[in-house]
Amino acid sequence: MLIMARMRKKSDLPQKTCLTCKRPFTWRKKWEKVWEDVRYCSDRCRDTRKSEGAPRRT
Ligand SMILES: [Zn+2]
Repeated sequence: MLIMARMRKKSDLPQKTCLTCKRPFTWRKKWEKVWEDVRYCSDRCRDTRKSEGAPRRT
């Protein structure tokens, strides 16, 4: 039995890595206008990051 192990993309959607949980997340419709600014996979991760006190650039 031959299985064509074809590397098939799940989708053509772009991905990013969440700065909080370091996991990749995929483009979502709700982000279509702000995708360039999206850095977290979820609101929760964003809030977590904030509450930890993001390092300030000086
Ligand atoms: Zn995350």
